[in-house]
Amino acid sequence: MSNTDFVLAIEDLTVSFDGFKAVDNLIMYIEKNELRVVIGPNGAGKTTVLDLICGKTKSTSGSIKFKNQELTELAEHEIVRAGVGRKFQNPSIYENLTVYQNLEVSYPVGRNVWGSLTFKRTAEVEERVRQVAREILLEDFLDMESALLSHGQKQWLEIGMLLMQEPELLMLDEPVAGMSAKERDQTAELLNRICKNRSVIVIEHDMEFVKKIAHKVTVLHQGKILAEGSMDKVQHDEKVIEVYLGH
Ligand code: ADP
Ligand code: MG
Repeated sequence: MSNTDFVLAIEDLTVSFDGFKAVDNLIMYIEKNELRVVIGPNGAGKTTVLDLICGKTKSTSGSIKFKNQELTELAEHEIVRAGVGRKFQNPSIYENLTVYQNLEVSYPVGRNVWGSLTFKRTAEVEERVRQVAREILLEDFLDMESALLSHGQKQWLEIGMLLMQEPELLMLDEPVAGMSAKERDQTAELLNRICKNRSVIVIEHDMEFVKKIAHKVTVLHQGKILAEGSMDKVQHDEKVIEVYLGH
């Protein structure tokens, strides 16, 4: 496989904050329909990697290619439009809108031939809302005000809002933090389903959860890759046990 076949190719990526390298010469390749989990101790640089990919933070040097398009030169909204969706740790849903409305407003807005913004209130939008609601286990909650959802359901709704845009790369930062055991299991199933049509990067600490979803695991430590490979390989790596899993 050549480097141009990957959905995401990160090469020699570095960002320094006042001389401190939070991400240090990172090299990482993500395949189509791959679900990659990134683990590592607090401060390892995990969130910063997602910030760099989605354009929230600008790199000091290096390259991030998404389907062979260089992202480091693009603005955040251009990266979204290119097909990269990112969920932050705290859900940003509209609490006063229903589940249906939250999904509806996330439908990508097009521009018509006269250049004005158009919002498609069509059967197409409704069909998409229902399809996404099924995927995120909220089909029976479409008319509920979002404020009334459980913490876990709010997390799923935000994933659904990202899915409305049909991203080819979806990035989730600690998606099961604060969820019940049952919600964690359901989230694992949900992620196993949605990575069938796209690549997914998940940052997570819960190793039981990681086991259920990871195709491959990348262990970050001090902005560098400490280990990478199958869950089994990484779990038995002595360096990983020493700096992370042993604690
Ligand atoms: P993780 O998500 O692995 O816990 P982060 O990526 O949040 O780690 O942070 C990595 C390091 O980079 C930390 O030491 C953090 O303080 C630092 N850092 C992250 N973002 C910034 C920033 N915008 N300015 C300065 N330092 C930052
Ligand atoms: Mg973090």
